[in-house]
Amino acid sequence: MTSSSFTALFLAALGAGLLVRIWLARRHVNHVLAHRETVPAAFAVSISADAHRKAADYTVARVRLGIVDLLVSAALLLLFTVGGGLQLLHATAARFADAGSLGHGLIFISAVASVSWLADLPLAIYRSFGLEARFGFNRLTPALFVADTVKGVALAAVIGLPLMACVLWLMDAMGALWWLYVWAFWLVFNLLVLLVYPTFIAPLFNKFKPLEDGPLKTRIEGLMRRCGFRLSGLYVMDGSRRSAHGNAYFTGFGAAKRIVFFDTLLDKLAPAEVEAVLAHELGHYHHHHLWKRLAVIGAGSLAFFALLGHLAEQDWFFNGLGMTSTGTAPTLVLFALALPVFTFPLTPLMSMWSRTHEFEADAYAARQAPAAELVSALVKLYRDNASTLTPDPLYSSVYDSHPPAAVRIARLQARTQ
Ligand SMILES: [Zn+2]
Repeated sequence: MTSSSFTALFLAALGAGLLVRIWLARRHVNHVLAHRETVPAAFAVSISADAHRKAADYTVARVRLGIVDLLVSAALLLLFTVGGGLQLLHATAARFADAGSLGHGLIFISAVASVSWLADLPLAIYRSFGLEARFGFNRLTPALFVADTVKGVALAAVIGLPLMACVLWLMDAMGALWWLYVWAFWLVFNLLVLLVYPTFIAPLFNKFKPLEDGPLKTRIEGLMRRCGFRLSGLYVMDGSRRSAHGNAYFTGFGAAKRIVFFDTLLDKLAPAEVEAVLAHELGHYHHHHLWKRLAVIGAGSLAFFALLGHLAEQDWFFNGLGMTSTGTAPTLVLFALALPVFTFPLTPLMSMWSRTHEFEADAYAARQAPAAELVSALVKLYRDNASTLTPDPLYSSVYDSHPPAAVRIARLQARTQ
């Protein structure tokens, strides 16, 4: 491969990806707007025309912002690569540390991360204080936004810099098979984050209180016993500090396993509905969905790291993406930036796989708790989160990790009869 043919391939993939994504987004917007005035028959009793219109407008606003985001990211990527931005940052970083040294690599990677973060900042601010606020979901104050940002940057520095230093060192020190060591290191790091996230990282951003004794707790403990689950805690998180969206999730694994409810979810759902939602989450555990995902991601990333090992030796890879300098840090940065351009075709496959997991978890939930309670919980969540009930089928099949509301609820209702 020559540098110029790789540049052409990169630009073609980027352009094709953009066109397909924008085409899908436009289909989705048109489909949602075409169904804006009529609530689907299955939801006619439970969802008002106003709530349905709000969901349509919210969906359209988010998809349109997504297109802006897409264009900004693509422009930045072009500026970084064929625009020579990365080479410029690399040369500038060499003024602060010996070229090619570990320090130079870390400054270069930090500079790229900082520029990307700054480019995304206006959209992030608009997303919370413009879009989410307009639809009544934002609870974030500017002070909290700044505090979150400062904590996020500090965390990225405290965890990210030593992590990057280790990776760059492995790349230098481990010979031809360095990519295998980096892969193993990366995998262990990810498992470690899963393990420490609930106890050490999440509490930096939110307050967690044990779920109080009462009818809900009794119900949940009954469900746990029926399903044969042990965990180290039931917690309520102050999600209402940032957003009105409700949620519940499992976090950690092994002995550190815990269930976290957003306070916003407990406000909206009756105890029987919370129990059904939880039974769905238990279904994910029962079917080992987390481990299956990790196994596929682990195996897939091995292939990507092997590819990385190969590309690190090819001059056309660097030159084709606008860099004359080679070395460990440029290899990592170019790979991280260029890979998503080529992996878009995997999106529908991962989404489809995720949807089969959702069906499995729903089926499990329907065996452990009344399916009708899960249906009414889902309807409330769709309504209160202003999720559209009428997605474009093609858009939904490419992106949605969860099945469309109508399909999911129809399957559950079939179980109640
Ligand atoms: Zn699920």
